[in-house]
Amino acid sequence: MSALDDTPLPAPPVLRAEGILDRLAALRAADAPTHGGRVLSYVYDPDLAELDALAGDAIRAVQPLNALDPTTFSSVAVMERELVSFARDMLHGTGAQDASGVVGTVTSGGTESCLLAVKTARDAFLAAQPAQADGSPRTLATLGFALRVVAPTTVHAAFHKAAAYLGLELVLVPVDPASCRADPAALAEAVGDGRDVALVVVSAPSYPHGVVDPVEEVAAAASALGVPVHVDACVGGWVLPFWPDAAAQVPVFDFRVPGVTSISADVHKYGYAPKGTSVLLTRDRDRQRHQLFATTRWPGYPVVNSTIMGSKSAGPLAAAWAVTQALGVPGYQAVTARCAGATSALHEVLGSIEGLRVVGLPVGPLVAVATDESVPADRRIDPHVWSDAVRASGFVLQPQPGFTQPDGSRLPHTTHFTVTPVTAGVVGGLGAALLDAAEAVRGVPRPDPQQVLAGLLATLAPGVEPTDAVAALGSLDSATAWELVQRTVLGGADTRGGDAPEPGTGPMAPLLALVEALPPAVSERLLVELIARLAEPVPGSAED
Ligand SMILES: *Cc1c(COP(=O)(O)O)cnc(C)c1O
Repeated sequence: MSALDDTPLPAPPVLRAEGILDRLAALRAADAPTHGGRVLSYVYDPDLAELDALAGDAIRAVQPLNALDPTTFSSVAVMERELVSFARDMLHGTGAQDASGVVGTVTSGGTESCLLAVKTARDAFLAAQPAQADGSPRTLATLGFALRVVAPTTVHAAFHKAAAYLGLELVLVPVDPASCRADPAALAEAVGDGRDVALVVVSAPSYPHGVVDPVEEVAAAASALGVPVHVDACVGGWVLPFWPDAAAQVPVFDFRVPGVTSISADVHKYGYAPKGTSVLLTRDRDRQRHQLFATTRWPGYPVVNSTIMGSKSAGPLAAAWAVTQALGVPGYQAVTARCAGATSALHEVLGSIEGLRVVGLPVGPLVAVATDESVPADRRIDPHVWSDAVRASGFVLQPQPGFTQPDGSRLPHTTHFTVTPVTAGVVGGLGAALLDAAEAVRGVPRPDPQQVLAGLLATLAPGVEPTDAVAALGSLDSATAWELVQRTVLGGADTRGGDAPEPGTGPMAPLLALVEALPPAVSERLLVELIARLAEPVPGSAED
């Protein structure tokens, strides 16, 4: 009996749990609807309440785990292995029994998969270079040239982020403006002899237009030079393999193509898992080992991480594992059939609307719509004015800005649809809303980008030449950027904490026009300010 045994334990804290979940429910009620097929981007709804419940239960079951260490928490290793195996079979990777087999990792999402694909390519490239004079390995700084990633302009922004984070140069190659597919000859020209190229990236399909890049042609050319190819199937990876009559309808984009070295496929998109999981698959074990980070050079525990995070939740993995086990291949085929049916119905409606056209030849459930310039101006429909009108019926579509490619060619501004299985149940109402809105806005032009910009500049800096005023926006401080955000995105006021609509609920056409007209550095700075301010406590509000 020691004195310590007699010491009374300090009392546990008194929790103030009451009302917390009610408040959360009230906050959630203000969110855009995640179910029911009203929002045709961001959310991927299989329309199976049971599956949601299963995913939630799986998250609860692993809530206290730390997925940092699969040796301590062995369930993490088993679930990851089984999810990687499912994805590998789906994308026709052969087993890892031999060195050239396909191995993989579960990551936190598409962006992390893309970042890690670039990181792997960078470090594999550096490892293959001759060592420095003192025997130490090459670094980017001692290469003597800029290491490049070559991709079409339609490649996901995650690769812009990867290049920025990892110190590589992203070379963006124009796509064919008619099909919006990557141009293999233009990519080959940009790759050149390939000696300074860490990775070529193509998409299956691209997010903006839903078209599948010519993976076979690009991979054949790249592999002839020994340049690795990543196929970004973040959005397509869990849906194209199950598309009805895929063998005839979907160009081959997966590990059946010899030069493809890695593929990203997000389980939290068409895998129908809650947010927080993607799979990155890599051909060749030795290559994939460059993805992992390890260090024993500190006084703490030896660190080895396959992904960017250290300590991490096992919840997304468990949910994704449970969802994929529950659906299995037949389940994915069934939900994908509903998704494909809804996509056909949507194409039929869109095809009947004079003044709009579907961009390129999309394969799968993504569709982008632009103005049909082949009809007289008074019969044309602007996709952004149209999607703003559709919003009145409760359907939320995603406007995308027009884009000038490096060769000066234009990709038009579009409105994007992400069709999911739940769309099948609302496609009648959606179709009617699309047709009604089309009649209402036919012939109505969008706000002219240059005029929107000139209007803004005139209020900001009266009497100053527009070009000088834009130049003055070059380096904005937070206060000025916030002022501008309030005048533009928020339509005149700080709406945080009030009853006014959140950003994005007003008309989007003028905002997208402004994004197109502003130099990217300025629009990017304004968006940074908007998002950073959303996380700042609002002085004097109930939350503060
Ligand atoms: C969604 C997407 C990404 C990025 O994925 P996140 O899960 O949003 O991080 C990358 N590439 C493509 C083609 C995508 O559709």
